[in-house]
Amino acid sequence: MSPSEFAGPAGSAEEPRDSRKRPGWVRVDCHLHTAASGDAVTTIEELADRARQHDIDVVCITDHNVTSAAVAAAERDIGVRVVIGEEIRTPDGDVIGLFLTERIPYVLPLAEVVSRVRGQGGLVYLPHPFDPGRSSLGGAAERLSAAGMADIVEVFNAKIKDHSRNERAARLAAVHGLPAAAGSDAHDPEGIGAASVDMPDFDGPAGFLDALGAAVITGEYRPHAIRYPRQVPG
Ligand SMILES: [Zn+2]
Repeated sequence: MSPSEFAGPAGSAEEPRDSRKRPGWVRVDCHLHTAASGDAVTTIEELADRARQHDIDVVCITDHNVTSAAVAAAERDIGVRVVIGEEIRTPDGDVIGLFLTERIPYVLPLAEVVSRVRGQGGLVYLPHPFDPGRSSLGGAAERLSAAGMADIVEVFNAKIKDHSRNERAARLAAVHGLPAAAGSDAHDPEGIGAASVDMPDFDGPAGFLDALGAAVITGEYRPHAIRYPRQVPG
């Protein structure tokens, strides 16, 4: 994929996305946060509203080091399908587990985290692997990919300042034949859907990986949300 395929109209995150989805396909935001992350403000209700408005069918809730909101959202009917994920801090940088059934602690070495993700049938997703502005895996992403320990590379993260970092991630995916995906990394409701993947509908992690093979990624760049504290009821 060329970088231009990623480029959406700047500043249009407030506009509804086009909904030219193919029959039988779903639109997935593979990486986003709720207030349970501690540095994000989105409630589950706001997430559900925003996703429905923007024709997102599936959200991967990938809070920092917790799965409580993802589990709660998955157990309720919020009108949007939920994949339970977690963005897990390791000494080498952040890694995301998708399709988790158990929370993974954030003090563990990367190899241990990867083996815990896979041990519970989850997928190892490399978020913004080359963004130096955040806790990214960098060289560890290359080592994991070369060792067959990565399942998905995030080739479009909507919040990367230097867009060439996404292009480098796309090259990593291509070199290792890994499926590419995209996430808004939204920490506020307005950011949800800034990047997404249109893909054939899927069931479970194996189906998700298969479907990514046919995926079409779209995204637009969006600055980081202003961080501010917020009381969330309940
Ligand atoms: Zn994130």
